[in-house]
Amino acid sequence: MSKMKAFVVRAPKKYGIEYIDIPEPVNNEVLVKLETSGVCHTDLHIANFDWPRQPIYPMIPGHEGIGIVTKVGPMCTKIKVGDRVGIGYMYSACGHCEYCVSGKEILCPSKIVTSLVKPGTFAEYTIGHEDYVLPIPNNLDVLAGAPILCGGVTSYKALKQAKLKINDYVAIIGIGGLGHFAISYAKLMGLNIIAIDIDSKKLESAKSEGADGVFNANDPLIVEKIKELTNGGVHAVINTSVSTSSAYLGMYILRRAGKQVLVGVPPKDEKGNIEFPLPILGTISGEHHILGSVVGTRQDTKEALALGVKGIVSKVSQTVKLEEVSEVFEKLEKGELLGRAVIDFRANK
Ligand SMILES: [Zn+2]
Ligand SMILES: [Zn+2]
Repeated sequence: MSKMKAFVVRAPKKYGIEYIDIPEPVNNEVLVKLETSGVCHTDLHIANFDWPRQPIYPMIPGHEGIGIVTKVGPMCTKIKVGDRVGIGYMYSACGHCEYCVSGKEILCPSKIVTSLVKPGTFAEYTIGHEDYVLPIPNNLDVLAGAPILCGGVTSYKALKQAKLKINDYVAIIGIGGLGHFAISYAKLMGLNIIAIDIDSKKLESAKSEGADGVFNANDPLIVEKIKELTNGGVHAVINTSVSTSSAYLGMYILRRAGKQVLVGVPPKDEKGNIEFPLPILGTISGEHHILGSVVGTRQDTKEALALGVKGIVSKVSQTVKLEEVSEVFEKLEKGELLGRAVIDFRANK
C-alpha cells in the first residue's frame, strides 16, 4: 500500500510528521488529494486535549481542506474523480433526525466530526463522505479560501444568528482568524464595527480592515467608552475570544435587547469547566440574549464560499508546509499569529 505524509497526534501535545498508509475509500467515501488546508485554533485545542471531549488517538487534525477527488467508494453516485471538494468540520450527519431534516444538520446528535473521529486534512490525502464534502466554486482562490470551511463559515453564521440590520453596531471580540472574517462579513452587511482585543497589533489590523472603533479589553473604561460611542451599547457581540472574561465583558457592552453570540471556545479550567459568571440583573433588565453558534450547515458554507469568490477570504499571514504545523501551533498558543496560516501541499512538489 502506498504511503502518505501526515501530521499525526499520538497523545495530547505529542505530534509530528509520519508516513502512514493512504486511506482506502469504502461505501460512500471519497479519497481527496489535498491542495490546501487552513490551520484553525480548534486543531491546536484538539491536539492538546484542551476541551472536554477526548479525541481518538492517533488522530490527524485539520478541517479546512480543499483538494481533488482521486478515488471514490463503490457506493458513490454524486461525486466523481477529478471534482474539487472541501473537507470541513462535519464529516457526516445521520440525515433523518429532527435537526437534519430541518436544515440544522450541524446539531445532529449522531454527526461525525472530522479529526475527532475521522482523519483530518493535515495529510497529503484524506477521506470525505460524498454527501457532506463541500463543492468548491471554480473561481475560488484555494489558498485564501480554505479557511472559509471553518473560520469563515463560523463567523458568517454567527453574524446571521445575530439578525442585525444595516447600520447596527456589532462588537467583535477577539481579532484572530475568526475575528478577521467577522470584520469582513460585518462590513459587507453594512454594520458599524467595534473591534476588541488585548493586542494592539491586532487592533491596528482591525482598524485597517475597516473597524469603526477599536478598544483594548484591558482598558478600565472600555464599557463607558463603548456605550458613549454607540449611544447605549452594541446591538450584538460576536465573541470569538478564547478567554472567559471576554464573555463577561460582552454582557456589559450590550445595548438593551442586545445579543451576545458565543463562538470562541476557551480552554477548560482546572476543574474541567468552560464557564463565565453571568450578570443576572443586567441580563434581565436589559433583556439580553446569549446564543451559541457552532460552525455552520452545508447551506451556510455554500453562502460563505460564494462570498469567498467575491473576495471575502481570510488574510493569509503565512503559507506553510505540512512540516511547519508544529511551529504554527506554537504561534497560535502564544496568540502571535495575525490572520490565518494555510498549508500549501502543492508547494511540496
Ligand atoms: Zn441527524
Ligand atoms: Zn475550525
